[in-house]
Amino acid sequence: MKGNPFAARLAEFAGRIADRRLDLALVHGRADILALTGVDCDSACLKVSASGEAALYTDFRYEPMVNRVAPWLRVGNLKRMSFSARRAGFCSSISVARYDALRDRHPGVRFVDVSEDLADLRAVKTAGEIGRIRAAAALNDRIWRLARRKFRAGMTELDMARAIRRLMVGLGDGEAFETIVCVGKNAAECHHVPDGTVWNGRESVLVDLGVRLGGYCSDMTRNVVPARTSRLYSKVYSLVLEANRRAIAAARPGITSGSLDRVARKFLAENGFGREFGHSLGHGVGIEIHEPPYAAPRRKTVLKPGMFVTIEPGIYLAGNLGVRIEDLVLITEDGCEVVSASAK
Ligand code: ZN
Ligand code: ZN
Repeated sequence: MKGNPFAARLAEFAGRIADRRLDLALVHGRADILALTGVDCDSACLKVSASGEAALYTDFRYEPMVNRVAPWLRVGNLKRMSFSARRAGFCSSISVARYDALRDRHPGVRFVDVSEDLADLRAVKTAGEIGRIRAAAALNDRIWRLARRKFRAGMTELDMARAIRRLMVGLGDGEAFETIVCVGKNAAECHHVPDGTVWNGRESVLVDLGVRLGGYCSDMTRNVVPARTSRLYSKVYSLVLEANRRAIAAARPGITSGSLDRVARKFLAENGFGREFGHSLGHGVGIEIHEPPYAAPRRKTVLKPGMFVTIEPGIYLAGNLGVRIEDLVLITEDGCEVVSASAK
């Protein structure tokens, strides 16, 4: 495993396989394989044994790349992959067709879902991953600063989204997700798709943006708040900001992700906007834009140092207005560090 920056995670995964009394686990998801080996390959199966041996089965197109990126990894052909096991782990992100084929070809094997184990391991970032996510977040801040200077009255939501996309392609590796731009009351739809709505320069604009850099994502939501807003908008904005701050103050090792969600949810409910905060507080960010830990009601993930989670409370008043403020935070030994640095 020498040369694999994820060797410790792979060894820990092997430990979990052994703990669950499995002989081996088969991992098919692209992001999961990347998080265990550093190999980015969308047609592969990683076989990890309980003793920690790893082999990647792929096809002719990818073999040279795998040998170059991960010379320590055994490589085989996916069509000829075979194994013998009584109990084997698999990840539920596998397609139904592939799962059926796997079971047909290995009738005596008991398959056990190990997705949760892998998600747990991926939620705690390695030092290298923390550096990359920090860099993606810093670039996201820079892009927001540059984009705001380009916003002019008369631009449509699509114009603004395109301006952001161009910056992301020019300065990073493109968008981590399709940028959300909502002018005025369109922000009441929390995942509004940018359209031809024209900004008159006096309305609020909600922008949810994330750039991908070095294989990792960032995520942040900010609002262009005009000098003159309605009393209602100002009230909603300050409540959302306070909910965001309270959740940040509560984010630390030991708290569950569900309790963190509750900090913001309770505050907004006490102020009369419980129903208008209809989504969860946040999610982890890494190779994928949405990954564990999920800060949502009833989730019981205990936050640990090295986890990233977004804090994104919002209030949405249908047909009227919407405000969401989203920061990316890193859980540290004694609290959290807000990685998003843009003013809010
Ligand atoms: Zn976002
Ligand atoms: Zn988010």
